[in-house]
Amino acid sequence: MTNDASFGPAIHRDRLERASAEAASRDLDALLITPSPDYAYLLGYAAPALERLTCLIVAADAPPALVLPRLEEPLARHALGELANEISIVAWEETDDPIALVRTIVDGARRVGVQDQMWARFVLRLRAALDPVELVAAGPAMSALRRIKTPEEVDRLRSAASAADEAMAAIGAERLSGRTELDVAKRIRELLLDAGHDVAGFAIVASGPNSASPHHEPGDRLIERGDAIVLDIGGSRAGYASDTSRTAFVGDPDPEFVALYTVLRVAQAAACEAVKPGVACSEIDATARRIIDEAGYGEAFIHRTGHGIGLETHEEPYIVASNDEPLQPGHAFSVEPGIYVAGRWGARIEDIVVCTEDGGERLNTTSTELLIVG
Ligand code: ZN
Ligand code: ZN
Ligand code: ZN
Repeated sequence: MTNDASFGPAIHRDRLERASAEAASRDLDALLITPSPDYAYLLGYAAPALERLTCLIVAADAPPALVLPRLEEPLARHALGELANEISIVAWEETDDPIALVRTIVDGARRVGVQDQMWARFVLRLRAALDPVELVAAGPAMSALRRIKTPEEVDRLRSAASAADEAMAAIGAERLSGRTELDVAKRIRELLLDAGHDVAGFAIVASGPNSASPHHEPGDRLIERGDAIVLDIGGSRAGYASDTSRTAFVGDPDPEFVALYTVLRVAQAAACEAVKPGVACSEIDATARRIIDEAGYGEAFIHRTGHGIGLETHEEPYIVASNDEPLQPGHAFSVEPGIYVAGRWGARIEDIVVCTEDGGERLNTTSTELLIVG
């Protein structure tokens, strides 16, 4: 993640206030937020996660405090701008005990939320130092804030998606046969950056039998005629993630593959069409799954239909059979069914969709037709 996840001081002040209220409503005296997407969400910049403790303390009934190593203070003050005046910044020296500083700040607390990705080295020391304070996951409180995207956040997701679309269109126009998966993956990373990403996050290039492995790690396999290729690419732009998949075929597509792909394409489109407020996440999953099942490929669809996306590539809400949460305007998530025939081939189509009052808006706009490549 880059340092430019900021929306300006007014929005981050508001997020800090809402986090404080969220903590209070969940009977938490404070949230302890170490560098992570939650930290970037609240403060607008991504502090590095290091062995030296940086910890934002969002109290239910006091202004926020930021404990950080002295050498990280200039970066924090620069990134926070005028917001730095509203946060009590406690910079610790190399020989200080930052855990003791946090303990002083949360003195009197009974129940504290710790950021979900906080390193064990900090959680364990905090648990010992704060005993008998009850430590619980801060995740539900933070997710309540982050799961509904504002129009400004949707704009960033849209601009990340269009950069990924540009990279996908460019790679789809190149000759892929005779190149290794790894070469193509390197090229995609270049294209992601050229198209405006700050970070080229990932490039899955799964060719031939490898296309049956949804998270295949690109290797030295040479792409050749008759291969199906799953391309799943993304990165981040202004802090927000992109993630899109298209499937290509090298040369004249095998009719059997075309039949499989047609089912997948109908299923993916139907799941996108089903998006509207009030529909359960599980129903979006079921919509894609029913079509794939009825065509006889049910066993070959081996993952959930999608995941939320925002500052993280995978976040809530998850589009999975076990999640009956109703969709709301501002939910942003992938719709990415796949069909995988082990040892032979596979296909996936993935678009990011935002739920609006009027239904789903696809942020990825490239054609979902099978890409025919040379
Ligand atoms: Zn995935
Ligand atoms: Zn995805
Ligand atoms: Zn993906």
